[in-house]
Amino acid sequence: MSNINLEKLLEKRKQLLSELSQHPALLHGTWVERYNVCSRPNCKCHRGEKHGPSYHIAVMEDGKQRQHYIRLANKDLALAGLKQNETVENILYEITKINLELMKEGIYEDK
Ligand SMILES: [Zn+2]
Repeated sequence: MSNINLEKLLEKRKQLLSELSQHPALLHGTWVERYNVCSRPNCKCHRGEKHGPSYHIAVMEDGKQRQHYIRLANKDLALAGLKQNETVENILYEITKINLELMKEGIYEDK
């Protein structure tokens, strides 16, 4: 690979690394909507009309999935946070591709 292309890769990586810091509200998890049955015996939820949805974000913590309840008032914020996470994951993927290229060229170490 030419020096110019290598410089381009390093420049691109620098740019991506700086983009990473532009998503402070990211939520690294997945959206979950749950429908529940309550404890009132005569409630309609026991005849098929379950309560919900209630909103949660599932996060992997120490190898286990934990679901965090999201209040309705925070639904849009939470969805935006998940969107930011998608962007960050794409950036990580791009950086990984660049680093693998750099590794082939023997200049993988931090620059
Ligand atoms: Zn009920």
